[in-house]
Amino acid sequence: MTDKLSFTQEDLTGFTPSKKFFAGIDSDGCVFDTMEIKQKKCFHTISIQLWHLEEIEQYTREALEFINLYSQWRGQNRFIAQALAFDLLRERREVVESGVNVPELRALKDMIASGIPLGNPTLEEAVKQTGNAELALCLKWSKLVNEEIARTVKQIPPFPHARECIEKIRHKADVICVSQTPEEALVREWAENDLLQHVEVIAGQELGTKSEHIKLATAGRYNADNVIMIGDAPGDYKAAMSNNACFFPINPGHEAASWERLLEEGFDRFISGTFRGDYQQSLVDEFNALLPDTPPWKQ
Ligand SMILES: [Mg+2]
Repeated sequence: MTDKLSFTQEDLTGFTPSKKFFAGIDSDGCVFDTMEIKQKKCFHTISIQLWHLEEIEQYTREALEFINLYSQWRGQNRFIAQALAFDLLRERREVVESGVNVPELRALKDMIASGIPLGNPTLEEAVKQTGNAELALCLKWSKLVNEEIARTVKQIPPFPHARECIEKIRHKADVICVSQTPEEALVREWAENDLLQHVEVIAGQELGTKSEHIKLATAGRYNADNVIMIGDAPGDYKAAMSNNACFFPINPGHEAASWERLLEEGFDRFISGTFRGDYQQSLVDEFNALLPDTPPWKQ
């Protein structure tokens, strides 16, 4: 249990197991039903305003919603998702015909390719060092989004069965929150729902990727069969697989049923060693079928 409100990578690298099992739990769209409101009301609306995409608003929203909510890229880091969505948007026929300029975000892509943790602090530093106007706009967007989320997304309770399930999990496993959301939003959301008491660390985008969070906290400390990641996006699955850990999906659109299944069946299987293999694969197949890699306008 933690009473800290701020975390560093040392909280992960110096993580001391107190139990035999470890669970990483994603936050947005997994514990909390915050994805739709954060994306549509905050991220997408501010994107349209800042990059002057009003003339192609409908297509912009479709591209941003596809990448961020309804595809294999759901839950991706905000900067990577923005670059992907703008690429998709720029090549759409209706957008080409409109003549509206959708930026390539080259400087941002260079930063993504460098492998540096992608969050406001690193972007702030890059803007200071390079003075790049495009990076400055990305940083402005990211900060405005955070402010809008803090102002408008409040008191969103956990999905049904999530609280009970987390309470059950923490009796057997060390639990950390593994997310690509900024720490300040995570701490606020877990604290206002009285869930901070159930986690050892809140790992947000400032502490690296989800895969890095799990690796830093678990490598050499737990048997890989005893490590599980719970999440609602392919990035959560990949973070689990890159650490040879187990994965339990919270299916987009069927979150309450997923948490109930984890509570009634999945977690007990994990503890008893009958999770990996056919059972996990059937869950992953069901999950993947919900998240396509081709946008509806290209099918
Ligand atoms: Mg998520």
